[in-house]
Amino acid sequence: MAHLIPVLVQTPAHSQIGGALTYQSEASLPPGSLVRVPLGRRETLGVVWDGAPERDPALDASRLRPVSAALDGLPPLAPNWRQLVAFAARYYQRAPGEVALAALPPQLRDLSQAQLQRRLRRPPVSRTATASAPDGGASDTKSAADAQALALSPEQQAVMEQLRQGNGTFLLFGATGSGKTEVYLQCVQELLQREPSAQALVMVPEINLTPQLQQRFLARFAPVFGADAVVSLHSGMTNPQRLRSWLAAHLGTARIVLGTRMAVFASMPTLRLIVVDEEHDPSYKQQEGARYSARDLAIYRGQLEHAKVILGSATPSLESWHHSRPRAEGGRYTRLHMPSRVGDQSRLPLVRRVDMNHQPRRAVIAPPLLEAIRQRVAAGEQSLVFLNRRGYAPVLQCGSCDWKSACPHCSAYRVFHKIDRSLRCHHCGFAEPVPRACPQCGNLDIAPVGRGTERLQEHLAELLADLRRPGSQTPDAPLGSPVLVARIDADSTRRAGSLQSQLAQVHSGEVDVLVGTQMVAKGHDFRRITLVAAINADNALFSSDFRAPERLFSLLMQAAGRAGRDAAISGHSEMWIQTFQPRHPLFEALKRHDYPAFAERQLLDRAGAGLPPFSFQALLRAEARTQEAAQAFLDAASTAAQRQLADLPGFDQITLYPAVPMAVQRVANVERTQMLVESPSRKALQTFLTAWHGLLHTVRQGEAGRGLLRWAVDVDPLAI
Ligand code: ADP
Ligand code: ZN
Ligand code: ZN
Repeated sequence: MAHLIPVLVQTPAHSQIGGALTYQSEASLPPGSLVRVPLGRRETLGVVWDGAPERDPALDASRLRPVSAALDGLPPLAPNWRQLVAFAARYYQRAPGEVALAALPPQLRDLSQAQLQRRLRRPPVSRTATASAPDGGASDTKSAADAQALALSPEQQAVMEQLRQGNGTFLLFGATGSGKTEVYLQCVQELLQREPSAQALVMVPEINLTPQLQQRFLARFAPVFGADAVVSLHSGMTNPQRLRSWLAAHLGTARIVLGTRMAVFASMPTLRLIVVDEEHDPSYKQQEGARYSARDLAIYRGQLEHAKVILGSATPSLESWHHSRPRAEGGRYTRLHMPSRVGDQSRLPLVRRVDMNHQPRRAVIAPPLLEAIRQRVAAGEQSLVFLNRRGYAPVLQCGSCDWKSACPHCSAYRVFHKIDRSLRCHHCGFAEPVPRACPQCGNLDIAPVGRGTERLQEHLAELLADLRRPGSQTPDAPLGSPVLVARIDADSTRRAGSLQSQLAQVHSGEVDVLVGTQMVAKGHDFRRITLVAAINADNALFSSDFRAPERLFSLLMQAAGRAGRDAAISGHSEMWIQTFQPRHPLFEALKRHDYPAFAERQLLDRAGAGLPPFSFQALLRAEARTQEAAQAFLDAASTAAQRQLADLPGFDQITLYPAVPMAVQRVANVERTQMLVESPSRKALQTFLTAWHGLLHTVRQGEAGRGLLRWAVDVDPLAI
């Protein structure tokens, strides 16, 4: 007799196919098996799922379509993996099929049985594919140093001991340069040596940081566990590379998986340890499809697998900070602290605030800061000047009429890029050459307003033009060579490999001053930078987003952490902040490198305002050609909830806010609106969202759904 088999397939977003489809099969296929099944007129990859197959009693079992083929030779996906997928789908309000199939390597979908068998026979990881050496300049000496476990500092030892003794989730709160990575390395090593089949998952927020990390892990572990023991998983890899890494993890040959947020779904049957480095980083939150938080799923997965989870950060998310309060006060994570930088004289940089109220008006770089940068250049040291806005100027404006460089497709200005004399919209990508005259009145005098990294680079080069690099005098160039001001941002690093080569230029000492966006504030190890300056730090103080101060603080702390990583020169490293609000508590706390004080204040504010982590939020987003259509959908969704869900348990704990247009309300001619749902109870919110989901489909199909392009629910949104 044929077996009835529930199978998850990739369902189009919001199709009403909620769960698994039922197929029949001669063989009994255990849950987790990968199969190929017919779907409409195509054949598609599916995962045999748990539970009794759903069956329409009216439907004759013999008319169910058969499974086309099972992917032989692949062990089934483990129960814990399936539970992770089921949880993620439920929690983030998506179809399990979408989550499951998105978590598998794309190439698995197209592989024939013969091709798969060949992949399975081949050694799973080829050295060349994964060991793409990052060219970080100093990488040779570094990898030599990385090859052996370092003798731990007392702080590191204490932390290691607590990690050995404890269980569950840990928050490793450690200053930049306190040696968190060394702790991860040694934890992984102890685990892998103790348990011959155990696997560890190490996550970082940015693809750009994976080669650097992979180099460190390979240098340390290839000699001990073999080069195949370490694989990467991130979206910058080719499909064949991803498949190889995935297979190695799934089959257990890979002991260590390094990756970005997508790696949280890696199939790792013997997972025992999860590390989430820079756990506060917003890029752990997926911004489309299933909008999951890889950090939060890592914690869930850790509980499921009885694996330890280490969240590491110098500026933890307020959520993690709150959850790691003392157990007696309700904390659930164990907080571990490493306040000092490794090395004797290695101190955190001195934070200096420049009160811009007392500087010449229109000064971009205040005179005392300029003087400090000049001194660093003269001493042969490097400075990093940080501005979180790329391009030359955010707006171009006509001097005689009121024309500004608005994007015709978005409610935003196009940014002036001088390098190719273009006006580019950073929201929709629309680009045009800069007009010679004002398109509105013909006036020739159109001028940039404000400043981005390109303009800052140009300005600094002018301010430093009279200086010569110390020791650069040669018989051929008796006056010496000019100062080099370089720039690293999303524009300068568009070409593959350009980030690595630009970083190498900084490491080699060719660059005197580096201008950059937050891209350079994160993770990169600049040994010779002794001065970091944030020239326009105030913006975030006035943001309407309640998470803006948290993000600013962590960005500035991270930027400060770039300075003086070399013990020999850290003694006089400095972080300069230009601000009109020098007494702002955020900067006061920053000056003392006092994250706990900052966090405590923020948490008090949040508790007072009933904001996360003291409440739980979700957004319902709608996109339409007109603002009215988008609003109409949200209004109807709200009305439907009030009318039909009022009896739901916990509904009295749900607040539905009115729909409001998003900050940039029109992008690429699409109007965007959102509605906030809030509750002090996570459970009540989840119950509500699940019940609401069905209603949303109904509303979508009714009158109020006319003109709607898309809708989506974002649970635990990061930006509101
Ligand atoms: P974090 O991840 O906390 O920013 P890292 O782990 O990158 O810090 O360590 C900063 C630097 O200190 C690295 O160059 C690392 O090799 C070095 N380091 C870490 N631990 C030790 C140690 N116990 N002894 C000597 N050097 C160490
Ligand atoms: Zn004009
Ligand atoms: Zn645009």
